Amino acid sequence: MGKFKSRMYSFFGGRYGTDALYYFLFAIALLLLVINVFVGSFVASLILYGVAASLLVWGAFRSFSRNISRRRRENEVFTGFFRKVFSPFVLAKNKFRDRKTHKYIRCKKCRAVIRVKRIPGNHFLHCPKCLEKIEVTIKERKSNKAPKNKNKNKK
Ligand SMILES: [Zn+2]
Repeated sequence: MGKFKSRMYSFFGGRYGTDALYYFLFAIALLLLVINVFVGSFVASLILYGVAASLLVWGAFRSFSRNISRRRRENEVFTGFFRKVFSPFVLAKNKFRDRKTHKYIRCKKCRAVIRVKRIPGNHFLHCPKCLEKIEVTIKERKSNKAPKNKNKNKK
Protein backbone atom coordinates (compact mmCIF):
# COMPACT_ATOMS: atom_id res chain seq x y z
CA MET A 1 0.00 0.00 0.00
CA GLY A 2 2.87 2.32 0.85
CA LYS A 3 4.43 1.60 -2.50
CA PHE A 4 1.17 2.39 -4.28
CA LYS A 5 0.82 5.65 -2.37
CA SER A 6 4.33 6.80 -3.19
CA ARG A 7 3.76 5.87 -6.81
CA MET A 8 0.59 7.97 -6.86
CA TYR A 9 2.51 10.83 -5.31
CA SER A 10 5.24 10.65 -7.91
CA PHE A 11 2.62 10.49 -10.65
CA PHE A 12 0.63 13.51 -9.45
CA GLY A 13 3.55 15.44 -8.01
CA GLY A 14 4.65 18.41 -10.08
CA ARG A 15 1.52 18.31 -12.23
CA TYR A 16 -0.23 21.54 -13.02
CA GLY A 17 -3.69 20.69 -11.66
CA THR A 18 -6.92 22.57 -12.23
CA ASP A 19 -7.55 26.25 -12.91
CA ALA A 20 -10.25 28.56 -14.26
CA LEU A 21 -9.64 27.44 -17.86
CA TYR A 22 -9.95 23.80 -16.78
CA TYR A 23 -13.38 24.40 -15.24
CA PHE A 24 -14.45 26.44 -18.24
CA LEU A 25 -13.51 23.64 -20.66
CA PHE A 26 -15.27 21.14 -18.44
CA ALA A 27 -18.45 23.29 -18.27
CA ILE A 28 -18.53 23.83 -22.05
CA ALA A 29 -18.02 20.12 -22.69
CA LEU A 30 -20.85 19.30 -20.29
CA LEU A 31 -23.10 21.87 -21.97
CA LEU A 32 -22.35 20.37 -25.40
CA LEU A 33 -23.18 16.89 -24.12
CA VAL A 34 -26.50 18.17 -22.76
CA ILE A 35 -27.30 19.88 -26.08
CA ASN A 36 -26.31 16.64 -27.79
CA VAL A 37 -29.26 14.88 -26.15
CA PHE A 38 -31.68 17.20 -27.99
CA VAL A 39 -29.99 17.09 -31.38
CA GLY A 40 -31.77 14.90 -33.90
CA SER A 41 -29.18 14.85 -36.67
CA PHE A 42 -26.57 12.11 -36.42
CA VAL A 43 -23.80 14.17 -38.02
CA ALA A 44 -24.41 17.21 -35.79
CA SER A 45 -24.52 14.94 -32.77
CA LEU A 46 -21.24 13.33 -33.78
CA ILE A 47 -19.58 16.73 -34.18
CA LEU A 48 -20.87 17.92 -30.79
CA TYR A 49 -19.65 14.74 -29.17
CA GLY A 50 -16.26 15.07 -30.84
CA VAL A 51 -15.83 18.68 -29.72
CA ALA A 52 -16.92 17.86 -26.16
CA ALA A 53 -14.52 14.90 -26.01
CA SER A 54 -11.59 16.96 -27.30
CA LEU A 55 -12.32 19.74 -24.76
CA LEU A 56 -12.25 17.14 -21.98
CA VAL A 57 -9.02 15.64 -23.33
CA TRP A 58 -7.48 19.11 -23.58
CA GLY A 59 -8.54 19.88 -19.99
CA ALA A 60 -7.10 16.59 -18.75
CA PHE A 61 -3.88 17.17 -20.69
CA ARG A 62 -3.49 20.60 -19.10
CA SER A 63 -4.15 19.40 -15.56
CA PHE A 64 -1.57 16.58 -15.91
CA SER A 65 0.96 18.77 -17.62
CA ARG A 66 4.32 19.38 -15.97
CA ASN A 67 4.96 22.55 -17.95
CA ILE A 68 3.46 24.69 -15.20
CA SER A 69 4.66 28.11 -16.36
CA ARG A 70 3.15 27.58 -19.79
CA ARG A 71 -0.21 26.38 -18.40
CA ARG A 72 -0.29 29.34 -16.05
CA ARG A 73 0.30 31.69 -18.98
CA GLU A 74 -2.57 30.06 -20.92
CA ASN A 75 -4.86 30.55 -17.95
CA GLU A 76 -3.87 34.22 -17.67
CA VAL A 77 -4.66 34.80 -21.33
CA PHE A 78 -8.00 33.06 -20.89
CA THR A 79 -9.03 34.96 -17.73
CA GLY A 80 -7.93 38.25 -19.30
CA PHE A 81 -10.05 37.57 -22.37
CA PHE A 82 -12.98 36.42 -20.23
CA ARG A 83 -12.84 39.60 -18.15
CA LYS A 84 -12.71 41.75 -21.28
CA VAL A 85 -15.76 40.05 -22.77
CA PHE A 86 -17.80 40.27 -19.58
CA SER A 87 -16.67 43.66 -18.26
CA PRO A 88 -19.52 45.57 -20.02
CA PHE A 89 -22.03 43.29 -18.27
CA VAL A 90 -20.33 43.69 -14.91
CA LEU A 91 -20.27 47.46 -15.40
CA ALA A 92 -23.96 47.53 -16.33
CA LYS A 93 -24.78 45.47 -13.26
CA ASN A 94 -22.77 47.79 -11.00
CA LYS A 95 -24.32 50.87 -12.61
CA PHE A 96 -27.75 49.52 -11.84
CA ARG A 97 -26.81 48.52 -8.29
CA ASP A 98 -25.36 51.99 -7.54
CA ARG A 99 -27.84 54.01 -9.60
CA LYS A 100 -29.11 55.95 -6.57
CA THR A 101 -25.79 56.63 -4.91
CA HIS A 102 -23.13 56.83 -7.62
CA LYS A 103 -22.60 57.95 -11.17
CA TYR A 104 -20.20 56.22 -13.55
CA ILE A 105 -18.24 58.43 -15.89
CA ARG A 106 -15.61 57.64 -18.46
CA CYS A 107 -12.31 59.47 -18.76
CA LYS A 108 -12.16 61.06 -22.21
CA LYS A 109 -8.41 60.63 -22.39
CA CYS A 110 -7.76 57.05 -21.27
CA ARG A 111 -11.32 55.63 -21.30
CA ALA A 112 -11.07 54.50 -17.66
CA VAL A 113 -14.37 54.22 -15.82
CA ILE A 114 -14.64 56.29 -12.66
CA ARG A 115 -17.30 55.96 -9.97
CA VAL A 116 -18.45 59.28 -8.53
CA LYS A 117 -20.76 59.84 -5.57
CA ARG A 118 -24.04 61.48 -6.52
CA ILE A 119 -23.59 64.83 -4.86
CA PRO A 120 -25.51 67.45 -6.87
CA GLY A 121 -23.39 70.22 -8.37
CA ASN A 122 -20.26 70.73 -10.44
CA HIS A 123 -17.21 68.77 -9.43
CA PHE A 124 -13.64 68.66 -10.60
CA LEU A 125 -11.63 65.51 -10.20
CA HIS A 126 -8.57 63.85 -11.58
CA CYS A 127 -8.65 60.55 -13.41
CA PRO A 128 -6.93 58.06 -11.09
CA LYS A 129 -5.29 56.41 -14.07
CA CYS A 130 -3.97 59.24 -16.24
CA LEU A 131 -4.54 62.24 -13.91
CA GLU A 132 -6.56 64.07 -16.56
CA LYS A 133 -8.76 66.80 -15.06
CA ILE A 134 -12.45 65.95 -15.44
CA GLU A 135 -15.50 68.08 -14.82
CA VAL A 136 -18.60 66.28 -13.61
CA THR A 137 -22.04 67.79 -13.36
CA ILE A 138 -24.50 65.91 -11.22
CA LYS A 139 -28.09 67.04 -11.32
CA GLU A 140 -30.46 66.93 -8.38
CA ARG A 141 -32.52 63.78 -8.61
CA LYS A 142 -36.23 64.46 -8.85
CA SER A 143 -37.03 61.21 -7.10
CA ASN A 144 -39.37 61.52 -4.13
CA LYS A 145 -37.95 58.34 -2.67
CA ALA A 146 -35.05 60.06 -0.96
CA PRO A 147 -33.66 58.13 2.01
CA LYS A 148 -34.84 60.84 4.43
CA ASN A 149 -38.50 60.37 3.51
CA LYS A 150 -38.12 56.63 3.74
CA ASN A 151 -36.99 56.87 7.35
CA LYS A 152 -39.87 59.18 8.22
CA ASN A 153 -42.39 56.73 6.86
CA LYS A 154 -40.84 53.97 8.93
CA LYS A 155 -41.07 56.24 12.01
ZN1 LIG B 1 -7.87 58.93 -17.65
